[in-house]
Amino acid sequence: MREEAMTAVSGTRDDVLAVLDRLGVDRAVLAGGDIVARSPIDGGEAGRVTTLSAADVDALVRKAHAAQLAWRVVPAPRRGELVRLLGEELRAVRTDLGLLVTLEAGKILSEGLGEVQEMIDICDFAVGLSRQLYGLTIATERPGHRLMETWHPLGVCGVISAFNFPVAVWSWNAALALVCGNSVIWKPSEKTPLTAIAVQAAFERAAAKFGSAPDGLSILAQGHADVGQALVDHPLVPLVSATGSTRMGRAVAPRLAARFARAILELGGNNAAIVAPSADLELAVRGIAFAAMGTAGQRCTTLRRLIVHEAVADRLLDRLAAAYRSVKVGDPREAGTLVGPLIDKASYDGMVKALAAAKAAGGTVIGGDRVDVGSGDAYYVRPALVVMPDQAGPMLEETFAPILYVVRYRDLDQAIALQNGVPQGLASSIFTTDMREAETFMSPAGSDCGIANVNLGPSGAEIGGAFGGEKETGGGREAGSDSWKAYMRRATNTINYSRSLPLAQGVQFDIG
Ligand code: NAD
Repeated sequence: MREEAMTAVSGTRDDVLAVLDRLGVDRAVLAGGDIVARSPIDGGEAGRVTTLSAADVDALVRKAHAAQLAWRVVPAPRRGELVRLLGEELRAVRTDLGLLVTLEAGKILSEGLGEVQEMIDICDFAVGLSRQLYGLTIATERPGHRLMETWHPLGVCGVISAFNFPVAVWSWNAALALVCGNSVIWKPSEKTPLTAIAVQAAFERAAAKFGSAPDGLSILAQGHADVGQALVDHPLVPLVSATGSTRMGRAVAPRLAARFARAILELGGNNAAIVAPSADLELAVRGIAFAAMGTAGQRCTTLRRLIVHEAVADRLLDRLAAAYRSVKVGDPREAGTLVGPLIDKASYDGMVKALAAAKAAGGTVIGGDRVDVGSGDAYYVRPALVVMPDQAGPMLEETFAPILYVVRYRDLDQAIALQNGVPQGLASSIFTTDMREAETFMSPAGSDCGIANVNLGPSGAEIGGAFGGEKETGGGREAGSDSWKAYMRRATNTINYSRSLPLAQGVQFDIG
């Protein structure tokens, strides 16, 4: 393996303070509290942020509820104007907010910027949507009647987000929720409190420009899981969109179900790509490298399982092993770095444990070593490529780290069975130039995931499509297409403009 002399990482505290100044966030937010604002780049603390307790949530929900009652009667295109202004604010701070994502979540700069771009994109989408919240008019069996659907605002939308998309997930939910006439309460990850504060500041600037947004329309509720749980349990929160691990989803889903609230669950993935004999291997190597090593393996859509036809496996593995040995791991602020740090020690420990389990199951590991960057509190790893005898053990779980397991296959049915043979169902892809294989993969008998791609990796979705997955990924859908419907309530209206009262299905009920 190529051993690189890494540049020592440091200086994140000064960078964080400088970027907060530029983003208009008062440094006093770091004056003390329960949440440590820490950069995974050097493990250094920038300060501490005050949290709420579960007991504080009720007052916030009531404030958001009052705001929603006023907001729901504002015409939707006018609501869209607020989201347009939010998009403008985000454009103005794109570079600095992207840098803060890098500092707080450890993403390389272009991915930090890409995440903010995703926020801008969903704002644009939501602005257009604000003039297209349409319902159907349906043929009625009764003369002199009209049957139609109307869509109405829902109420307070709770958003619980994960560390690895510290800003985009809020915007996917908030931009849609706001144009749909709802208010929003956001419980961000306790690992990324500063990006949340910067986003809230951008929202408040947009609201000030808008002029008439009710107070409490979008509330930030920093805290630990208990704050999220208080949102989940609150009767005035009809919808909770929760992004995070399947473990979190298992705690949240039954509580929401117990009070018949709506859930949009965006949980863990265990995403695969199939590489068929006809694949363009150059393209496949590039697609696999980004999907498996990008974001240091910390995307929900990260490629974790590679299912390769035995005819091309050796060639592909040679190419991939070379890429894994040479990819630049290090400070995500430096040009050329493609793999930044893991978020924390727990994440590193999870990777070590999974690699040990893979070896015990007969796997051969390339890479996976810790990379020294001169700070014991930062966790950098060389991504691991693990050739497995079959799909078993740690391959069936999501380890939130850059591990790519590889198994071989003989025919497409077997490959699809392997792809579907895990509890999670988020993202999938196939590399093939055979039209029959591509179509089979996307057919009802193909991939069982919410995302099924052809000739690109499973990660890096655009906001125009609905995003989410099946099985243990939770079944939620966010972002584009008709995902907005989850943020509204549907009413079916029958209007009688005749002088008689025919009953449906020919029922007679004549009271003389
Ligand atoms: P996590 O589950 O540890 O935490 C996510 C959020 O849930 C945090 O804000 C946390 O405070 C909150 N939380 C935890 N327990 C809770 C409870 N009982 N009640 C209410 N809130 C609770 O996840 P993480 O480590 O921050 O993020 C990584 C995970 O998120 C991975 O599994 C990844 O696949 C998943 N993820 C999924 C998607 C998707 O769209 N499917 C997107 C991003 C991340």
